[in-house]
Amino acid sequence: MNYAIYGTPTSATHERFGELLAQALEERGFARVPEPAAADVVVNLVDEDNPKPFRRASKGTFSFGIVERAEVPADRLKANYPILVRSLSNIALSYTPEQAVWFTTMERGDYSELANGDEADLARRVIGRLMPLAQARLVIDNEFREDLEPELWDGDEITQEIIEAGARMGDLDLLPAPFPIEELLNERDLRHVKLLYGIGGLSYGNLSQRLDETRFWMSASGVDKSKLEIPSRDILLVSGYVEEERKMVISVPPLAEPRRVSVDAIEHWMIYQAHPDVGAILHVHAWMEGIQATQINYPCGSHELAVSVAELIAREPDPANAAIGLRNHGITVTGPNLLEILDRIEPLVLRQIPMI
Ligand SMILES: [Zn+2]
Repeated sequence: MNYAIYGTPTSATHERFGELLAQALEERGFARVPEPAAADVVVNLVDEDNPKPFRRASKGTFSFGIVERAEVPADRLKANYPILVRSLSNIALSYTPEQAVWFTTMERGDYSELANGDEADLARRVIGRLMPLAQARLVIDNEFREDLEPELWDGDEITQEIIEAGARMGDLDLLPAPFPIEELLNERDLRHVKLLYGIGGLSYGNLSQRLDETRFWMSASGVDKSKLEIPSRDILLVSGYVEEERKMVISVPPLAEPRRVSVDAIEHWMIYQAHPDVGAILHVHAWMEGIQATQINYPCGSHELAVSVAELIAREPDPANAAIGLRNHGITVTGPNLLEILDRIEPLVLRQIPMI
């Protein structure tokens, strides 16, 4: 594994912290390469006033942007999310010397490592938090096959229920206000984000419901879940998983113009295959009291997140009616169908996600 430094430090302390991060990477066996395009991990030293996007050539590259700030901003998400988006990073870091490093994720999670007087130690802990994320394997490619049976071309009662459940999520205000990602990016970078992150940045959460033993309908990525409309465009039939190529197989009618399926399709796939009695799965960026939660905040769409959520579901007393926390991110809930899940969680759901 290797890494590269990108961007331009805005101060001596910014530069110094970049070097400490480099050192921490080398302690873990990473070798420095001059060319970021060839690196597995890219440390982007970002100037807040003039962020330089690092456009990854491959999904396998993990890049994080780090800005330096004299003070920790009062509204961290508002300050740091644009850094994440503008630098096209997997995760954005805000460094306040001698105080803390704040992490902001695409899912809009926000957490910190606090300084303890030893900035090299802080850098080591930061790299320690990032490594599981950097080494996660993403399964966000789709392979569209025009093999959907004609009776499903216009959807069925399940796609209808998904549309209804999506609208109810909107009414419940469970969908966070969309972040105006289009206002922060030009068209080229917006395309890049959609391609590499598999999101449109317009909405969060997803919902799916089982069709038969192996297949399930699922909401598309980057679409407002309260306004799902057209089957095989906004709601897709997931019919397989090609593990070697890390691709979800989507069955569509001929000449369909499908969106990409939600990046969490791999997670739903694993749960449906392991638990034949799970009828539906809902994921929202909210929380519930007293739930088991994943230990590491792996990125959406990663094999590792899917495995850790599926394992927690399997350990629940009733996996077919379970709710699991995704650390710093949200919940995944199973049930017989989506409307039943909504009935069950509506009185319990908390909009504030604990950040640790
Ligand atoms: Zn999510």
